[in-house]
Amino acid sequence: MEFIICGIVVLIAIAILAAYLSKAKCPRCRKRTATQLSSRKTGSTRISFKKKDTVTNGSGKVIRTRHYTRPGIRTYYDVTYKCNACGEVFVREETTECEI
Ligand SMILES: [Zn+2]
Repeated sequence: MEFIICGIVVLIAIAILAAYLSKAKCPRCRKRTATQLSSRKTGSTRISFKKKDTVTNGSGKVIRTRHYTRPGIRTYYDVTYKCNACGEVFVREETTECEI
């Protein structure tokens, strides 16, 4: 039981850390407390997602695996941030990916 609680705590810590690291970092004071001011789409490119389908039999055993690709689009943005600590305004390129 303690092992499961430890695992959950570690997962939550990793999630918080990942969320923190994905935030924009101020180039002047290095703090991650910036607020997004605006974002501008700068371009997009076609990508493909690798997917995997598994077929299982009645008892849950995998009897076949199918690999395929799905088309998607990666969109590029120039996002403008303002640092809450020192007031620096900076631009960061960000991307989003979605299936089409
Ligand atoms: Zn700053």
